[in-house]
Amino acid sequence: MMNRTFKSGESREQPSLLPPRIEDYVGSDNSVRAIDSFVCALDLAKLGFLHANRRTGVGQPPYDPSDLLKLYLYGYINQIRSSRRLEREACRNLELIWLLKNLKPGYRTIANFRKENWAALKAANRSFVLLLRELGMVGGTLVAVDGALFHGNASKDSIYTRRKLAKQIANLDQEIEAYGKSLDANDAEEAKPRADGSGDGNKSGDGDVGDKMKELMARRERARADLKDLETGDKGQVSKTDSDARLLSKGDQTIAGYNVQSVVDDKHKLIVASEVVNRSDVGHLHEMAKAAKEILEAETLQILADGGYYNSEDLKACEDDGIKAYVPAHEGNGKLEKQGRFARKDFSYDAATDTYRCPAGQRLHPTKTPWTNGSGRIEVRYLGSKATCGDCPLKVSCLSPEAKYRSIFRWEHEDVLDRHRQRMASEGAELMRRRSAIVEHPFGTLKCRAGYQHFLVRGFDKVRGEWSLMALCYNFTRLLNILGFDRFVAHMAEKASVARKSGVASALRAIPLVLRTLQARIALWLAVVMLRATPAS
Ligand code: SF4
Repeated sequence: MMNRTFKSGESREQPSLLPPRIEDYVGSDNSVRAIDSFVCALDLAKLGFLHANRRTGVGQPPYDPSDLLKLYLYGYINQIRSSRRLEREACRNLELIWLLKNLKPGYRTIANFRKENWAALKAANRSFVLLLRELGMVGGTLVAVDGALFHGNASKDSIYTRRKLAKQIANLDQEIEAYGKSLDANDAEEAKPRADGSGDGNKSGDGDVGDKMKELMARRERARADLKDLETGDKGQVSKTDSDARLLSKGDQTIAGYNVQSVVDDKHKLIVASEVVNRSDVGHLHEMAKAAKEILEAETLQILADGGYYNSEDLKACEDDGIKAYVPAHEGNGKLEKQGRFARKDFSYDAATDTYRCPAGQRLHPTKTPWTNGSGRIEVRYLGSKATCGDCPLKVSCLSPEAKYRSIFRWEHEDVLDRHRQRMASEGAELMRRRSAIVEHPFGTLKCRAGYQHFLVRGFDKVRGEWSLMALCYNFTRLLNILGFDRFVAHMAEKASVARKSGVASALRAIPLVLRTLQARIALWLAVVMLRATPAS
């Protein structure tokens, strides 16, 4: 064997007898084939992709949506998200050349596909969850929900709160006033005759000054209009670059963007339901739990969430829908404890007598008329008596200085919260430990491993479409890792074969109808021919 310093490649001038087939560009177990088999098994027209139902027409035909969907799936799985990078990769990446059969769509076509098909991308993500269910990859009994903040395609400076706008208007007022004063001083100075007698009082630079003043006043008007908009609407913030992005905070992090809600199944930590919102987590528990229960077709479902989701109406709605929620409770703001007084939790409810028992062992009885509190909840007030509370040795730790007796408010559906408290006391600690392990897996993978911390597009619709791609690619990669390439591709091939057979069967079923129609048309045609052939009398 010849001694060589380095390994050497092939000569670029070396001709090949036969050029390689595109099929030879990727190995038989390359994961790109799994993307191909998945997309080929989708009914893109049913999912709502544009042009999926297109018939032959004049002019340049569009790209097949299945090719562009394959391109995006490949891109998001391999951390290539920008349309310009996808365009470049489609020309030089052998896996993509194989996947797209050497098609080279331009970046505008690629970008437009993601923008225009946001609803279809959501539907494709959903259909993948159904596939996960079909493959037995989801347990469907225990899920966890959490929200993660993703930066939007907007800066923090482009989003205004009331406080920020009020401050901006005050600053502009000051600036305008200061500018006006300096102009007056300038005018007075220029009006003075100069010592050499050359001063004629003419003002210089009037045009520039006027423009500057006009600009300041226009900015103030815009800020005032935005403030009015905020005060009359329920948006809370005005976002100039991406109208749906908001300033959102979690822990010590504040971002300009969106809050992505994800429900993750316990069995393999796959995302079964998700939604992009621009508010905090509170108020999304029932909506997300219901979406997960529906797609999992579960009779009952346990859902775990952190304290940010605690909301009594949500807990009731979950219970009504057969969903057991586990959320650490907020027991007030701790004001009474800080004052050294008994809190609500120190009073126990006795359902048999419909009374509360206080720490001194006395009973608080309900008043007859329920009342509606500030947030619209109907509550019943339970009262101690003046006599017992007045003589009570614990009253210093119970009553406020002015009160003669203690009162407790009970929500009309408080039994829901009582059951929730019992659940949390018996199973909560163990389940809460599992919660973070379940739900943080997808976000950890997407944010830290894939580096997806922000959206490239703007507006709810497009952002939801992009999130669907991220979630789909997370689930897709995880499924391949757990199930294995061979089993996945075999399953998709079987699905495609069943679909083909049912297509053939429905085509065969349609034959008699086609023949009957044909027969009727031939009979009509013959009648017309014979009528024409008959000489007019
Ligand atoms: S003050 Fe009244 S409610 Fe409070 S512990 Fe004493 S008896 Fe019970």
